[in-house]
Amino acid sequence: MDFSLSEKVLQIAQKLRPFVDGEIVPLEPRLFAEGFGALEPELERLRGRAREMGLFSPQLPAAWGGAGLSLLELAHVGEILGRSPLGHYVFNAQAPDSGNMELLLQHGTAAQKERWLRPLAQGDLRSCFGMTEPEFAGSNPVWLGTTARREGETYVLDGHKWFTSSCEGAAFCVVMAVTAPEARPHQRASMIVVPTDAPGFSLVRNLPVMGEAGEGWLSHGEVRLSGVRVPVDHRLGEEGQGFALAQERLGPGRIHHCMRWIGICERAFDLMCRRAVTREIAPGEPLGSRPAVQDRIAESRAEIDAARLLVLHTAWRIDREGAHAAREDVSLIKFQVAGVLQRVLDRAIQVHGAYGLVDETPLGFWWRHERGARIYDGPDEVHKAAVARRILARYGLEPGPRG
Ligand SMILES: Cc1cc2nc3c(=O)[nH]c(=O)nc-3n(C[C@H](O)[C@H](O)[C@H](O)COP(=O)(O)OP(=O)(O)OC[C@H]3O[C@@H](n4cnc5c(N)ncnc54)[C@H](O)[C@@H]3O)c2cc1C
Repeated sequence: MDFSLSEKVLQIAQKLRPFVDGEIVPLEPRLFAEGFGALEPELERLRGRAREMGLFSPQLPAAWGGAGLSLLELAHVGEILGRSPLGHYVFNAQAPDSGNMELLLQHGTAAQKERWLRPLAQGDLRSCFGMTEPEFAGSNPVWLGTTARREGETYVLDGHKWFTSSCEGAAFCVVMAVTAPEARPHQRASMIVVPTDAPGFSLVRNLPVMGEAGEGWLSHGEVRLSGVRVPVDHRLGEEGQGFALAQERLGPGRIHHCMRWIGICERAFDLMCRRAVTREIAPGEPLGSRPAVQDRIAESRAEIDAARLLVLHTAWRIDREGAHAAREDVSLIKFQVAGVLQRVLDRAIQVHGAYGLVDETPLGFWWRHERGARIYDGPDEVHKAAVARRILARYGLEPGPRG
């Protein structure tokens, strides 16, 4: 196993790191003070620079204008972009669009790719993904209330979604809806592309999350679908394949999230260390001279490095054997790295004292926005249970009810 940076990624990193730290990070105070909308013109300018660098949509194959990287190579890029809350957005590698691009790339028809993937890849529009519903436990993704009833060559959708991230301003939503209520649980639902300007599709509100309703790409919508009519050719893949596609979308997607989280951890670690050497608790006595602070720094260093190796190993395995073979590893990194992220952010805030809560560093923003890491794309408990069941099955435990 060789997880070192390839020559290609080294060259990308040499351009990317100074751009993120020098051009994107300085915009953060405005993001925290004025919100995403106020920053959009400036972000558009930076997206233009990302295009000029030839690094826009790096997750896509070269034929679609991307960097044509393996998942392992992309993981390194994701860590660099993760250093700023705006890094992935500037390079058009942000969730939920990156997952939707992957879906369309792998399962879209030629016409669907032209209509939705091309403008997404070029950054001309944004999209969202509507699976979770307020009335049903999102942890059980085969249990949904939204339906898509077929009338000839049309689907008629009715339902209620929430946490539809980035819905405000999105051109379309990939909606998970039940198309065959009588089928077996894993074959009941399909994924259907619904333009957000279709009559009956409404963004009810942006959900207030930890004190912020957010706006545009940085928001989580509550959505109603009331008799929304779309042609049958808006369905992705076969009817009843929705659950399988969702699983596929989440495999590499979890690598993207985990490496973004490692990027966040590195930035938080950096801030924590700088604070430890510059803040004095008595004349000539920096915080870093205290064992409790040293302990936080050492624990964080060990946890971040171990987490990175786990994620790179998983990416390497997906590259070689596919997402299905690596599903145990994917579950492992999902809960492990989300926990490391939370602990490192907490330590960095603690070392900053009250200043850690002031929105002059990204620590508070991440604390609010990334608490969800242990919930979205499968809560910790679900991934831990999946890992443990697989391990115990190798020791002879019979499959039982989902735990
Ligand atoms: C920031 C953020 C962004 C999101 N973006 C999107 C998006 O763009 N599109 C979308 O469709 N959804 C999105 N979601 C929703 C997310 O996918 C769901 O929150 C997630 O699937 C969990 O579902 P739930 O919230 O309904 O929790 P529930 O299913 O109600 O679970 C509640 C809690 O129960 C516990 N639990 C669950 N299952 C088990 C179990 N088997 N054993 C033991 N304990 C268990 C866990 O602690 C869990 O947190 C987002 C969520 C967040 C926080």
